[in-house]
Amino acid sequence: MNAPTTRGAAIAAKCKDCIHDPAALGNWKEQVSACPCTDCPLWRFRPVSRTAPAWIKSHDADELPDGWTSLHHDDAIRRLRATSRDNPEREAPARSNSTRGTGATQRVGTP
Ligand code: SF4
Repeated sequence: MNAPTTRGAAIAAKCKDCIHDPAALGNWKEQVSACPCTDCPLWRFRPVSRTAPAWIKSHDADELPDGWTSLHHDDAIRRLRATSRDNPEREAPARSNSTRGTGATQRVGTP
């Protein structure tokens, strides 16, 4: 593997290495987009899918729908796809007023 030459490429490589499971639902960028670990120092800088909804692209944990960080990986990917900006039937997520990033996280891809 070639070493990344930019900060963004290095973060993308780290996130892909951290979370990508080729056997799980979603491509690597969808899986990184759906990362629930809002307390990770890279979370706000992780790459997200081009078609991700605004509440993912904001990189703001307060914008995530209620219960997002505790969703099972496959459910998170399905919800990400259902609310993709390319999906005309997308649903608007419920916004949470709760404080996020309190350390309660679930590793995506973990059963
Ligand atoms: S926990 Fe999430 S944000 Fe942190 S390195 Fe892994 S994929 Fe990236």
